[in-house]
Amino acid sequence: MYTAAINRHVMTIRSVIQLLEEIAPPVLQEPYDNAGLLTGHAADSCTGVLVCLDVTEAVVEEAVAKRCNLVIAHHPVIFKGLKSLTGKSSVERTVIAAIRHHIALYAIHTNLDNVMQGVNGRIARQLGLLNTAPLLPLQGALRKLCFYVPADHADAVRDAVFSAGAGQVGAYRECSFNSNGTGTFLPGPGTQPFTGQQGIRHSGEETRIEMIFQYWKESAILEALFRAHPYEEVAYEIYPLNNRLQEAGSGLIGELPAPLAETDFLQLLKTTFSLPLVRHTLLRNQPIRKVAVCGGAGSFLTGNALRAGADAFVTADLKYHEFFDAENRLLLADIGHYESEQFTIDLIFDVLKEKYPTFAVLKTDTRTNPVYYFY
Ligand SMILES: [Zn+2]
Repeated sequence: MYTAAINRHVMTIRSVIQLLEEIAPPVLQEPYDNAGLLTGHAADSCTGVLVCLDVTEAVVEEAVAKRCNLVIAHHPVIFKGLKSLTGKSSVERTVIAAIRHHIALYAIHTNLDNVMQGVNGRIARQLGLLNTAPLLPLQGALRKLCFYVPADHADAVRDAVFSAGAGQVGAYRECSFNSNGTGTFLPGPGTQPFTGQQGIRHSGEETRIEMIFQYWKESAILEALFRAHPYEEVAYEIYPLNNRLQEAGSGLIGELPAPLAETDFLQLLKTTFSLPLVRHTLLRNQPIRKVAVCGGAGSFLTGNALRAGADAFVTADLKYHEFFDAENRLLLADIGHYESEQFTIDLIFDVLKEKYPTFAVLKTDTRTNPVYYFY
């Protein structure tokens, strides 16, 4: 008898992770980071997703109660490395609880910080910033692929390589340069040439196709090239580029729709991020138009914000001496780590809900911010 169950799509933890990794490729995480799947099995079916900034024991309990076997957090609960799991710290107890209840813990951390549509893109959106760009664009991420294909196969091979993600320049897709010329080859013993004969030099019309790509897509792109190309031996070249990748990098800079007085800008921060207070540097009596942001600890970008001509830099976790780095040339504002990243939960939730509208994706109800204010 036919049952609905036969056709029911089983969502795996892997399929949820793959969707997130399309937006924030794991290779974009910082070297010190530990983003990725921390506990659990990617092949397990997913009963529901709970999204949070930090995984605590209370969040694991919430996941159990709500039947979510996948917790997606911004911060990796396992960060420094664990030498034993005996429950002597809250991190160990959280990991033990997750494993005991078969809950997968996945962290999407600096890789989500480093993409334009990530943590900082969401902050910029909440503040209404326009004309946004990375504050410190990623370097060395772009490569160039050139390959040669018989002219009458150029369209099909180009399409296949585009489908694997090559040819993206900013908001433009399917960018390539094509030139026609004559290719020659002499098939050696043991070859089975697509065209021509062994031992006889062949010459034919070929198209040279050039396109850039992000290095982490290289294996998928080459696989697509080799699969679609008619030749036994594909002639291709890959070049490193010094171009900066405008879609990825640290921090973000953008412009307010209209300049604001400094106190109005600080009030905007208080309202947008529901802050009881803002720690900031001396008011300079200058309007705020260009705004740099970095969710979480962003003091390493104060110099970049200055060089980019920002009127204000909004970040968190600033130490006393780091406030001096503003050099009285911009308004430096510390809005709190959790507060600066709070919209990351909505960001992850929205990405999952857009793709899986009917699937159980929940935002945590647990408050995980360990910082309280007495004022
Ligand atoms: Zn953070």
